[in-house]
Amino acid sequence: MSHIIAIANQKGGVAKTTTAANLGIGLAREGRNVLLVDCDPQGSLTVSLGYSQPDELDMTLTDLLAGVLMDKPAAPEQGILHHAEGVDLIPANISLSGMETSLVNAMSREKVLKQYLDTVKKEYDYILLDCMPSLGMLTVNTLAAADGVIIPVQAQYLSAKGMEQLLQTVGKVRRQINPKLKIAGVLLTMVDQRTNYAREVSDLLRRTYGGKVRIFSTDIPHSVRAAETSAEGKSIYLHDPKGKVAQAYAQLTKEVIQLEKQREKHSPEQSR
Ligand code: ADP
Ligand code: MG
Repeated sequence: MSHIIAIANQKGGVAKTTTAANLGIGLAREGRNVLLVDCDPQGSLTVSLGYSQPDELDMTLTDLLAGVLMDKPAAPEQGILHHAEGVDLIPANISLSGMETSLVNAMSREKVLKQYLDTVKKEYDYILLDCMPSLGMLTVNTLAAADGVIIPVQAQYLSAKGMEQLLQTVGKVRRQINPKLKIAGVLLTMVDQRTNYAREVSDLLRRTYGGKVRIFSTDIPHSVRAAETSAEGKSIYLHDPKGKVAQAYAQLTKEVIQLEKQREKHSPEQSR
């Protein structure tokens, strides 16, 4: 059974992409088959995995979605890159921003990404979708395709209004398009461990959304070593293996695996 997880927050710079890369590679290091999908026309995930010129790639997510729209599905494996650290990647570049417009006029427009992923998901244990910083049609497509959402937030800049909007969108997609969509959890990122601020924010989140959303017990600490990886083409596990961010992402990986095990136990009919 494959788990599809969207990593979403309409705010930029909260570590969505960093989390997609390092959680994805973390899952691969635990022996899982992982596909990462760059769903942001900025192509930051693509760049951070070492494809420094995404605009020069022959095939990206845009072509795979266009294939669905034109009823000309891509051949299996087509457009899927293999990263040295054991994950597969569907890259993106600026052409994806044109797709956002095409989707608006498409039939079943919210489910185009899902239709594509349905053709490859049997190959993977986990598919992680790195969202763009908006709640537009591409992000709605990721939510329509996902089983769970991970919401990275930067504690210092937590926006209650932004969080409310995101939760509303998730709720709306759940009611209208994808009843199985769950919030896997909120992930506190870039936490300055010298202050108690992260604790206060996670307490505040728990009070405000009481029981509605899980806060991951793993926080991701702030570290310049993590910021360096965006240009390196490799994960934090290789860049700074003994550092606190590598440890945190490894721990988050275990938490995510644990969560899925619990979920399978509670819905045995789905895991068959
Ligand atoms: P998003 O995808 O939400 O826009 P990114 O993953 O691109 O966010 O991260 C935004 C910036 O913060 C990037 O420059 C990234 O390298 C940096 N960053 C991410 N995680 C950390 C961390 N734990 N400590 C310090 N900087 C980080
Ligand atoms: Mg990003």
